[in-house]
Amino acid sequence: MKTIIFATHNKHKTKEIKSAVGDSYEIVSLEDLDFHEEIEEPFDTLEENANAKSSFIHERFGKSCFADDTGLEIDALDGRPGVFSARYAGEDGNSENNIRKVLKELEGMENRSARFRTVISLILDGKEHLFEGVVEGEILTEKHGSDGFGYDPVFRPKGYEQSFAEMPLDLKNKISHRGKAVRKLVEFLKNQ
Ligand code: IMP
Repeated sequence: MKTIIFATHNKHKTKEIKSAVGDSYEIVSLEDLDFHEEIEEPFDTLEENANAKSSFIHERFGKSCFADDTGLEIDALDGRPGVFSARYAGEDGNSENNIRKVLKELEGMENRSARFRTVISLILDGKEHLFEGVVEGEILTEKHGSDGFGYDPVFRPKGYEQSFAEMPLDLKNKISHRGKAVRKLVEFLKNQ
């Protein structure tokens, strides 16, 4: 069985990917490798940051690997917070403060359309492949629901009545940015 490293410290994401990939590949996370350093994300596009993480780990361990990067793009804010979604209200990456900042900036605005976008950079046998997943929706005027993480309580996907934080996880995974990007990655790997 071929081994692929998932360049993440996030246990939740690792579990999700392992179950999606099944037995065709062994997915190894950075925790499995006992690698605890933070990897820099110095660029201002999701593609470049995903590539920075996958390239760094590829060079470090000499194995095929992939990394993801996600941003919330709000139209009325010219695409912000985008690549800075995790640290929009400051370096400590506090979701409460990030949500408060977004709601304040959108106060009184009619156009609340937004999308989550995930990019996955896979380096397989030394060659890079990119996969993208997008979910369109809108930013609510206040928080709804308590499940999920990040901006979930204020994001309502198009065609649904509930916010991401009010949905069962399997429904969120079915329609979400990350779910879509991961399914493209898995499809690609299965066809190799
Ligand atoms: P990451 O690249 O997956 O770490 O995502 C960057 C940031 O985007 C996170 O810290 C969250 O604030 C936000 N984010 C990513 N995915 C989601 C999601 O599914 N729901 C809500 N917020 C998310």
